[in-house]
Amino acid sequence: MPNDCLFCNISKGQTPTEFLFENDTLVVFKDINPHAPVHLLIVPKKHIRGINDLTDDDHSILSEMIMVARDMAAEVGVSQSGYKLLFNVEKGGGQVIFHLHLHLIGGWKK
Ligand code: AMP
Ligand code: ZN
Repeated sequence: MPNDCLFCNISKGQTPTEFLFENDTLVVFKDINPHAPVHLLIVPKKHIRGINDLTDDDHSILSEMIMVARDMAAEVGVSQSGYKLLFNVEKGGGQVIFHLHLHLIGGWKK
């Protein structure tokens, strides 16, 4: 793992970032540059470069990320109004931070 990885540092609590949720596998925090009223990032503690780098060992991490995203959507009140779950993949797909993360985006006005 690159020791200058921002999301490794954040997920290990090495930078002052408030977690909305944390367990042994992942953390959830607010995106610093939100694209919608609700914009959370679900970030595994394991350094995985991105979707193209997932291995068979990562099935449970990936499913947990999606389940926690679903639970967080309920917690912040967008379950019924609707939301997007988004992985940006590689530079051409908009990925800027090469540590796997799932965007939870919602809360638009009805
Ligand atoms: P991506 O384009 O999918 O790689 O998304 C990276 C996201 O990380 C962007 O939406 C950024 O706004 C967000 N981001 C970058 N640095 C931080 C930070 N220190 N805390 C929270 N979010 C961040
Ligand atoms: Zn990392």
